[in-house]
Amino acid sequence: MKLIFEKSVKGRVGFQIPEKDVPIKASFPHQYARQKDPALPEVSELDVVRHYTNLSRMNFSVDTNFYPLGSCTMKYNPKFTEKIAKLPGFTDFHPLLTHLRGGGELAQGALEVIYRTEELLCEITGMSGYTTQPLAGAHGELTGAMIIAAYHKLHGNRRKYIIVPDSSHGTNPASAAIAGYEVIVIPTDKDGCMDIDEFESKLNKDTAGVMLTCPNTLGIFNPSIKKIADLAHKVGALMYYDGANLNAITGKCRPGDIGFDIVHLNLHKTFSTPHGGGGPGSGPVGVTSELLQFLPVPKVVKRADGTFALSRNCPHTIGYIAPFWGNFGVILRAYAYMLYLGKAGLVEIAEKSVLNANYCRKRLEKYFDIPYDRICMHEFVISASKQKENGVSALDIAKYLIDNGIHPPTVYFPLIVKEALMIEPTETESKETLDRFIDIMIEAANLAIKNPKKLQDAPVKMPIERLDETKAARDLDLRWQATTKN
Ligand SMILES: *Cc1c(COP(=O)(O)O)cnc(C)c1O
Repeated sequence: MKLIFEKSVKGRVGFQIPEKDVPIKASFPHQYARQKDPALPEVSELDVVRHYTNLSRMNFSVDTNFYPLGSCTMKYNPKFTEKIAKLPGFTDFHPLLTHLRGGGELAQGALEVIYRTEELLCEITGMSGYTTQPLAGAHGELTGAMIIAAYHKLHGNRRKYIIVPDSSHGTNPASAAIAGYEVIVIPTDKDGCMDIDEFESKLNKDTAGVMLTCPNTLGIFNPSIKKIADLAHKVGALMYYDGANLNAITGKCRPGDIGFDIVHLNLHKTFSTPHGGGGPGSGPVGVTSELLQFLPVPKVVKRADGTFALSRNCPHTIGYIAPFWGNFGVILRAYAYMLYLGKAGLVEIAEKSVLNANYCRKRLEKYFDIPYDRICMHEFVISASKQKENGVSALDIAKYLIDNGIHPPTVYFPLIVKEALMIEPTETESKETLDRFIDIMIEAANLAIKNPKKLQDAPVKMPIERLDETKAARDLDLRWQATTKN
């Protein structure tokens, strides 16, 4: 180990003062040359293995714990897709190979994966074409908002506004704003859906698009969705589907059939790639046939002889949105996952995720306030407002779950629910796991009455105490030793 480090230090890392017989490159300013070897750590292989193994064990992960983090679809990521992503033909492949020899002769396999993934996504969502370039859901939204702008520009007027409901994911208004639009926010009605009268009153010839999550972040499928799409189309606005919640409807209904013009999907959520902590994502964007001309380039196309090529023939393209072809490893995992499940399996995603969510909702409704308590889709939002009267917040309950080996649900989102806990169990969890989670939630509700301090002090079983949130935000200290109890 030591030798390797020394070699790399001397041979490659940093600028060494060169040996006498090696001339300094004329262009390199000598005063910046390193005078001493850099103080890089010298550790043995065993030290490195222990360090990273211990780090991995500090992680809360889907592989170790139940993870009902609403909106994030933290389902189990089957290991066979990892095996496929590890095939040397894919891992040793350099993206620039697609540029060599006629643009793709050496890359037929990878181009075919992208082409076929796009085909499957078209079938699942009812769209006419896809780009797999965007690197995350939010990046897909930006791509979509740019397509909306390009479409209206071609029709003579870019228009001014994009409409979002107040339950929307924060990335929706952010993406619209980055694409240059003003954002109009519509309140939610008593049924948990966008208030349709308010919506209609804000809709006009300056509306460029409407961005909706369906089912929305309250886990509710808007029964008026078709009417909303018709109203938007009447004034010439485009309908954008935030597909992060596709888990609830895969194989059951298609955004394209409901009237959406642009869709982004989160492959890392619905189609199962480990994500979180800023890990690699993929946010493919699908469009109707009318909008194909705006998709990013290059596009993967199939030639008459059945081989695949890259095409830049897209007259009104918004251009490159990401280098190369997006996060290829995530696309590949999603492709393998879809083929493995097949049509019947994809439908089961929706059915079981919705069943699991409703099972939890039903068992919890006696103990917690559920502001929009009706049949939900793949997730639902409870409120700790009842518990708050005894001084117990959603955050306290979240911390108590950590003590019990469960990753907390999303808290304080959506913003329209006070003391919100947004629960998404996903289809991959067993009834036993759900029951254990529910039992602990009920225990928390009882403790909130009998012994609130127990919740307020949690977590007590973790190596670190509860973080001082303000200090963590203002004075971040990531050194493990500095914050441990022992
Ligand atoms: C996760 C999510 C997004 C953003 O996706 P990223 O991949 O995190 O950028 C957008 N909308 C909703 C509803 C989401 O849950």
